[in-house]
Amino acid sequence: MAKKGRSSSFRVTQAHADVLYWAVPVAAAASGLLSSAPALWFGGLARLAAGLCAGQLVLAALWEVASFHLAAPRGQRLQHRKSAPPLYAQEAVGSTLCMFVVACLAAWPYLRYQQGLPIAFKATLAEAVPEAARPYAPLFYLAQMAAMVLGADAWTFWKHYSLHSPRLYAVHKSHHAFHNPSTFAGFAIHPLEALWTFAPILLMGAPALGLYAPVHGPFLASFAALNLYLHCGYAIPLLEWALPRLWVNTSVWHNKHHELSVAHFGEMLTLWDYALGTHTGGWDAARVAQQAAAVEVGKSGMDEAAAPDAAAAAAAADAVCTACDAENTVPNRVFWDAACHACYAEISMIQKLGEKQDLEFVDISAPDFDARKDQYIDGATTPYAVEMIGEFDGVQTVGVETFRRMYAQIFPRVGTPIASVSRLPGIAHAAEAGYWMFAHLIRPNLPKRRVAVCTAACDAKKQKQT
Ligand SMILES: [Zn+2]
Ligand SMILES: [Zn+2]
Repeated sequence: MAKKGRSSSFRVTQAHADVLYWAVPVAAAASGLLSSAPALWFGGLARLAAGLCAGQLVLAALWEVASFHLAAPRGQRLQHRKSAPPLYAQEAVGSTLCMFVVACLAAWPYLRYQQGLPIAFKATLAEAVPEAARPYAPLFYLAQMAAMVLGADAWTFWKHYSLHSPRLYAVHKSHHAFHNPSTFAGFAIHPLEALWTFAPILLMGAPALGLYAPVHGPFLASFAALNLYLHCGYAIPLLEWALPRLWVNTSVWHNKHHELSVAHFGEMLTLWDYALGTHTGGWDAARVAQQAAAVEVGKSGMDEAAAPDAAAAAAAADAVCTACDAENTVPNRVFWDAACHACYAEISMIQKLGEKQDLEFVDISAPDFDARKDQYIDGATTPYAVEMIGEFDGVQTVGVETFRRMYAQIFPRVGTPIASVSRLPGIAHAAEAGYWMFAHLIRPNLPKRRVAVCTAACDAKKQKQT
């Protein structure tokens, strides 16, 4: 966010970005003059540029058609109601320029290859691992691949996140010109961003870095294919189901990034977005609506290169969203069992604090509790007696997610980051397993507590009896 009172602070202006748009590809190509064999370098560049530029256009065209047919409903774009159609021609030009920059980077390791010098790619697995690791080469390589995925994800996430800061946003703005992107926008980034994103290609010329070509080639291709899917503007049900389970980004989420500008910065995985709370999975409906409304009026929170005063942008967002605040008057609720000793011990400690934060606690052991009443979402089919159920922003939560949302609402400063961290792989799995064991194996066998609190319905019953 912009710090006020420092007029000399560095910021890339739109004029800088416009000059760099053509200066970077020219400089990247001219860098070949510094090579030991310029003729060979430029020959390699010509082959790489032709292959990459034409190849990505053909693949984008094929995927654009395939995703249209595989989408559900068929051919229905994610932003079909509210946005102008994609800018196919501008996207294709942008992606082609990016591929030219990629070719300029790849020309360096390719020159070594042409000269017969060793590079990072190896034909056999044994060559790809250090000598000491050869007895357990597959395991070593698997661990190296995992480290590389995490490293590449961190590299691209922090690149993207930094480019959304007001100081650098002018460089990234050209990609966000594609508010409602198509597959052709996949690589349509500013050439300076292309240089930053793909700079690690230079490492392919380092013989010490062992990359087993038959595995690493398809692996790189799969992430290029993912980038095409992220931008296609369609949701393919099988991919939308499978990718989140592998902590991989999806078309729906990256489309949200193009739509909202302040969420889903991950370009490969979702780990950093969950950790930083920039994954809309942790957002309430009002926040999503507020950001969408802010973007509609050209005042997205991140687009501060256009609106330098963050406070003014936020105020504008609030102003356009009075309607969604008014709609959002139903309190969030937690359903708990006062007859359970463990639940009683926990909730009795936090109930007052929760109520101060407008959280409602509904006791399912009360005689007048009826899950089928209209005010509870799908209450009839929900096992309130077994699971910890909540209702947050009109959406039902079950189990660990209810605890996350409950504590995030009661203690926003501490609870919200803890909730984000608890969604990370490993931590989330451990929390789910612990919760499941308690809810399904331990709690049903605990002795029941005598419920001291009598409700109006139970009072009426008593009066009848006397
Ligand atoms: Zn994008
Ligand atoms: Zn972005």
